[in-house]
Amino acid sequence: MLSVQAAEEIILNSVQPLDNQIDTEIVNLTWAARRILATSVTSELDFPHWDNSAMDGYAVLYQDVQNCSNEQPAILSIVTEIPAGGIPEISLQPGQAARILTGAMMPGGADTVIMQERTRREGDRLFILAPPETLGAFVRRRASFYQAGNPLLESGIILNAPEIAILAAAQRPQLTVYRRPRVAILSTGDELVTPEQPLQPGQIVDSNQYALAALVAQTGAIPEMLGIIPDHPSKIEQAIAQAVANADMVLSTGGVSVGDYDYVAEILGKLGAEISITSVAVKPGKPLTVANFPNPKTGRSVLYFGLPGNPVSSLVSFWRFVQPALKKLAGLKTGWQPQFVQAQSAVTLRGNGNLETYFWGKLQLIDGTYQFHPAGGSHSSGNLINLAQTNGLAVIPVGQTTILPGEIVQILVGIGEYI
Ligand code: AMP
Ligand code: MG
Repeated sequence: MLSVQAAEEIILNSVQPLDNQIDTEIVNLTWAARRILATSVTSELDFPHWDNSAMDGYAVLYQDVQNCSNEQPAILSIVTEIPAGGIPEISLQPGQAARILTGAMMPGGADTVIMQERTRREGDRLFILAPPETLGAFVRRRASFYQAGNPLLESGIILNAPEIAILAAAQRPQLTVYRRPRVAILSTGDELVTPEQPLQPGQIVDSNQYALAALVAQTGAIPEMLGIIPDHPSKIEQAIAQAVANADMVLSTGGVSVGDYDYVAEILGKLGAEISITSVAVKPGKPLTVANFPNPKTGRSVLYFGLPGNPVSSLVSFWRFVQPALKKLAGLKTGWQPQFVQAQSAVTLRGNGNLETYFWGKLQLIDGTYQFHPAGGSHSSGNLINLAQTNGLAVIPVGQTTILPGEIVQILVGIGEYI
């Protein structure tokens, strides 16, 4: 049986990210939030675009004011006024000042701005009551934030509000982003019914398909729900073949254990997939099956995850293994690795010892320290009721059987998040 780390390495190495030439689309800046940039962006504009004032005040020559004081103010004559958006028409001579407002272009000749609060004005006469701290005080120099032609944004990053602001300022109303990956999802099991169907004794509602579709969408991909497939080899084969032909990744749940109706692995082999994982030393989620479908026609291979049927197991497997792979597939250059934080456990947690053991629970920041409280009630992998409002998965490593209250435990965070 593979360790979690070994399985993770196999999975992430077999991900073939979307192609930044082919797998792209153009989006309007208004709709670009949470998309992944597919081409790097440079700007022909300097930032700031010109020397400008950081304050409401007066543009002056440093040499005129460097030695002034409250007792011996420098006295200058105001020769022009420059509002934001105005173009200075006069170049300052020694002894002159220009009224200037925040963001306005510096006039020629001037090299320093004096904030209004340090001046007194009498008509066109200006008294400077304190010297500026340095030559160039309160002047934002052209290109001091960014020089035209340098890389502005790298490809493979997520566009959030700061990047959107930068792109707007750089006048890029249209952007090339990666298309959203398509993820086919199917549930196998004769016992399953949809949430709309009447529930007969012995039946179970297919919750996995909905949970996985939500997670796929939250991760920025497009879920394609293929429905419930009965435990019938030819039906499963047909559904998997259809899924692989149309998606970038396929998730199935159920049928990967060692029961009499667990056909998935056999069918994957028959369809020509290369199976790389059949179980992982993890609890819950041991019967994880992972395979690759090479597609010689497109050159793109499709990653297949056969997730365990138990609702908790399938979600844990998504969180730990599928989500990082999906982020990498989507075109993210960095940040697709799972994220862990260290927290104090509020209670005793018992691990299996031979399997990496996970507990769902709530991670809370209390007085600056993360604390982890496992969800109340049963931690059976069939119990999904106590998953509500949880946000962390405590990890008890192989070889460790107990974590005592107050001891540090690693918590996997960020389910259904890009970052
Ligand atoms: P399996 O891996 O197919 O043996 O399923 C393990 C357990 O998970 C069984 O109790 C199934 O009824 C349950 N199960 C399987 N698929 C789903 C599903 N899509 N939604 C909810 N429970 C499921
Ligand atoms: Mg089943």
